[in-house]
Amino acid sequence: MIIADCHLHSEFSSDSHARIADLLHQAVQKGMHCFYLTDHHDIDFPPEAAGGLDFQLDTSRYLDCLSDLKEQYRGQIEIRTGVELGLMSHISDRLKAYTTRYSFDFIIGSSHLVDGMDPYYPEYYKGRSQTEAYRAYFASIYENIQAFQDYDVYGHLDYVVRYGPTKNSNWNFADYADLFEQILKTLIAQGKGIELNTAGLYKGLGYPHPHRDILNRYKELGGEIITIGSDAHSPEYLGYGFGLAEELLLDCGFRYYTLFHDRKPEFLPLG
Ligand SMILES: [Zn+2]
Ligand SMILES: [Zn+2]
Repeated sequence: MIIADCHLHSEFSSDSHARIADLLHQAVQKGMHCFYLTDHHDIDFPPEAAGGLDFQLDTSRYLDCLSDLKEQYRGQIEIRTGVELGLMSHISDRLKAYTTRYSFDFIIGSSHLVDGMDPYYPEYYKGRSQTEAYRAYFASIYENIQAFQDYDVYGHLDYVVRYGPTKNSNWNFADYADLFEQILKTLIAQGKGIELNTAGLYKGLGYPHPHRDILNRYKELGGEIITIGSDAHSPEYLGYGFGLAEELLLDCGFRYYTLFHDRKPEFLPLG
């Protein structure tokens, strides 16, 4: 059994209304041993990009709150601190200043914007083919990981395939293999991991992020660090599809999944 959900959002994220107490209750009910909160912090997020949501984390208040809860839940569940940072190459200095100022157990680096645009919205696809738009998303991941390295795993690597005009129905790894070769080799060389994000299962993909073609290539290239998270923005999705996620990883040849404590990986057996 997977003992922690490494990707969760609460009302500290501007796109969630979940109370931390309710998320904790659900985690305890599900028999989790650890609890990670990874609320959004997206520096330089244009307010018009996502209907006025700003995705700025009140980090001091967030960490104080988690520190109080840590005491309160001692003996029931271990609370660890996390954040999901929106990465973009032009903000790497500001990202570095942020991760130097605040300490977390675990940092997910994610791509939510490309050239100031959120691939969630149709304007991102205007004037180019879907494959070109997806390639631009993956190319920006490669730029991001060259510019900034103070994170632990890259989040939902193929998030963009949820939103294109035909979504993932024409998915063909060969169209992107060159980009993934660069991304995955760089992540592995830098000691970074990836996450298996089960939101794909409840957001219409039919499988967790990233596609198993990407998982397989990561494994073949020697990748070993992989965290598992639901990306739940409400308690009912906490731990969603973790049985299936575990089977998928075993099927791809992984034997361990990863938790982070104080930014260091801990490897736990699958199966
Ligand atoms: Zn995300
Ligand atoms: Zn998230």
